[in-house]
Amino acid sequence: MQKIWIKETKNLVNKYVNLFGFVTNIRDHGKIIFIDLKDRSGIIQCVIDQNNNKFSQFKLLKPFSVIKVSGLIKDRPAHLANPHLETGKIELAIDNFDILSLSETLPFDLDGDGYDLDEALRLKFRYLDLRRDRLQKNLRRRHEFLLFLRNFLDAYGFIEIETPILTKSTPEGARDYVVPSRLYPGNFYALPQSPQQYKQLLMVSGIERYFQIARCFRDEDPRMDRQPEFTQLDIEMSYVTKEDILSFIEKMFVEAITNLYPHKKITKIPFPRLTYKEAIEIYGSDKPDLRINNNDNDELAFVFIVDFPMFEWDQKNNKWDAMHHPFTQPILPNGEYNKEEILKLLDKNPELLFSEQYDLVLNGFEIGGGSIRTTDKDILLKVFEVLGYNKDDIADKFKHLLEAFSFGVPPHGGIAPGIDRILMILENEKSIREVIAFPKTGEGRDYMMDAPSEISKEQLAELKIRIIN
Ligand code: ASP
Repeated sequence: MQKIWIKETKNLVNKYVNLFGFVTNIRDHGKIIFIDLKDRSGIIQCVIDQNNNKFSQFKLLKPFSVIKVSGLIKDRPAHLANPHLETGKIELAIDNFDILSLSETLPFDLDGDGYDLDEALRLKFRYLDLRRDRLQKNLRRRHEFLLFLRNFLDAYGFIEIETPILTKSTPEGARDYVVPSRLYPGNFYALPQSPQQYKQLLMVSGIERYFQIARCFRDEDPRMDRQPEFTQLDIEMSYVTKEDILSFIEKMFVEAITNLYPHKKITKIPFPRLTYKEAIEIYGSDKPDLRINNNDNDELAFVFIVDFPMFEWDQKNNKWDAMHHPFTQPILPNGEYNKEEILKLLDKNPELLFSEQYDLVLNGFEIGGGSIRTTDKDILLKVFEVLGYNKDDIADKFKHLLEAFSFGVPPHGGIAPGIDRILMILENEKSIREVIAFPKTGEGRDYMMDAPSEISKEQLAELKIRIIN
């Protein structure tokens, strides 16, 4: 594939080239027409005059038509140079062209940042909205960020492993999205709220260092800045302490930011630590914003929140919830691990137990959480009981994990930073939707594909599902 990017043309003066792209701007002076041609690398001015035998055809072009142009790259006379354009000193003199696809008038303008436009319209025509420079930049930055993380983790011996999307519920505190099974009518898969159990099972498999750029699905109530599916950098490691994980994650973020966002200033390294209690008492929040200058877009204030209580009381349902998730290692109020004592407290005073959970907070947003996990079957069973699972539930939902832990399980822990939110902050965006290629609305609708939507009677019949109105 021999394709010349537009940005390369500035070094190709007096060369005959073929370029492809969108026509973004048309300046018709009657006998001569200038257009801007745009590809993913840049923009170049192209010019055609009435002596060209296809001139009248060129006049039909509308903005955003896709064309191929051929001709000589020429220096522009000095006084006509455009200092704002990378290719501003040159232009392409059109010798020949092919109109590959004509465009209708676009439903909105792509010149500005698009913030002032109706978002529903932007989302309906997301594939056009994504032509916008700002969103192209966001997509590219996201790619670079993920690539950096992948390479970083690879250098430390982690391997990326995909885990199933069609699976069984793992409790992360939200409702599951479920998928009916055609082959087993009346049975359902759940989409993973996170790959939590799989990554722990991979530790039982001896993988030791796992990561995955993982999609997670949580059916939560609509909220402006929530997505039914989001992306986590899911990590799990064997034979590590909480300290190992926190310092490793800190190193990963510091290196990523130094490399990819060198103009950003991290408020404090090493990242400060607050206990959950301190955060609540001092800041009234477990996601405090520790920026020194809140108006500074380029300040990044990371903080680790540690020493969480293991359980929190769920008023609505009158039961204990895990503050993180059930797989987190409980510890005694003095920070120590003693199995017998922990089992006693699980029985009598679960509210007194703390856990090996940690959260990473950035500029007032929780950007990740994790924990050292319980690998002791007796403790894990008791935790499930405290959370209100009965024996049958436990057997049904977690038998595989409890069984796995009876075949030799390395001590392990992990964390899962949320990629969408981190990029939103790094790119100074107000919403995670601006850093996701095809986001849904806060109410979980996809206006472009029109999802969710009804399915056909035949599909329902195949699934043996009847809709109750
Ligand atoms: N699965 C957890 C979450 O999604 C992260 C972890 O504990 O590693 O929050």
